[in-house]
Amino acid sequence: MRDLHPQPDFILWTGDDTPHIADKNLGEDAVLGIIGKLTHLIQEVFPDTKVYPAMGNHDFHPKNQFPDTYHRIYNRTADLWAPWMDSQSILMFNKGAFYTEKLLNRNDQRIIVLNTNLYYTKNRLNIGLSDPANQFQWLEEILSKAMTAKEKVYIIGHVPPGFFEKRRKVFWFHQHFNERYIKIVQKYHNVIAGQFFGHHHTDSFRMFYSHSGSPIGVMFIAPGISPWKTTLPGVENGANNPGIRLFQYDTNTLEIQSMVTYYFNLSYANTVTPLWQQEYNLTEAFEVPDGTVQSMQMALDKLYNDDYYLQKYYKYNSVSYDLSECDRNCRIDQICAIKAVDFVKYEECVQRESSSPTHTATLPIISFLLLSLLPLQF
Ligand SMILES: [Zn+2]
Repeated sequence: MRDLHPQPDFILWTGDDTPHIADKNLGEDAVLGIIGKLTHLIQEVFPDTKVYPAMGNHDFHPKNQFPDTYHRIYNRTADLWAPWMDSQSILMFNKGAFYTEKLLNRNDQRIIVLNTNLYYTKNRLNIGLSDPANQFQWLEEILSKAMTAKEKVYIIGHVPPGFFEKRRKVFWFHQHFNERYIKIVQKYHNVIAGQFFGHHHTDSFRMFYSHSGSPIGVMFIAPGISPWKTTLPGVENGANNPGIRLFQYDTNTLEIQSMVTYYFNLSYANTVTPLWQQEYNLTEAFEVPDGTVQSMQMALDKLYNDDYYLQKYYKYNSVSYDLSECDRNCRIDQICAIKAVDFVKYEECVQRESSSPTHTATLPIISFLLLSLLPLQF
């Protein structure tokens, strides 16, 4: 990324830094050692750039078992990341691995870094709790103050709410945590300018809607830098090429203007030479004006109505690794994961899409309308 764009305003580092292997082959010191090495590497490559890091579910030992209170790993990680954090953030981080700061010290802009590993279904410590580490209460307070102060906010985290788009009905948050997260987004969507998460290793996005069904929020899920083949049962060909992305944003409103994903084609690297190159530009690939909520709704409508865009999206979903066709079941999984973060709405979406006749029957009309409205671009 230094060669491609040496001076970003800031870096979002969404976690999962250690190998996804058995706990017995890692250990607490190894986990902290790896986080430390990556921290130093990023500091060496981007010495003057502010970094906002979040912990992933693999950045703990035993993995996934994030406690809702002070822990040595939180403390040691905060020490490693201290050069990027202000003193208040370090104090907060020690208590639960989440924090907030003014974005780049700007007056009316804020970043909130969450520890959503607390809500992860594989975390056995917080199942019976309504609000682990009081993070939700804290988040609401920060967003409420942001609303009063007319701030704009970015939220980042690792494990996202909602469903995995490559396997039907696979979700990460316990349902009550999922509901609470959605409610908070619905209440404070006016101040939330963007949500950036990881965990999937795939490239996707999630839409949030008001009670009346209007689009109010978008969450970008970034692909992984490390290639990894998921071990999740039932996922076929669940690997990805390494990907990294660059957002262009409006420095006044924090609205996303554009997003370029760079990737490393493993087949090409193995047969010819290692090469990081542009994979796609969001606005060009989906012919949308920018990366705002309205534009991402437009992108979703295109995936829904036109197999050409669905297929393109599906290729990028694996960072151009899986070039197979996204069939009817794949389409249902992908579309419903994007448009329904809520458990009940997801179930309804799957039911509706499974029972509806194949949508391709409406394609000629839609294609004709698109052609008549848009200049031809090939
Ligand atoms: Zn993860």
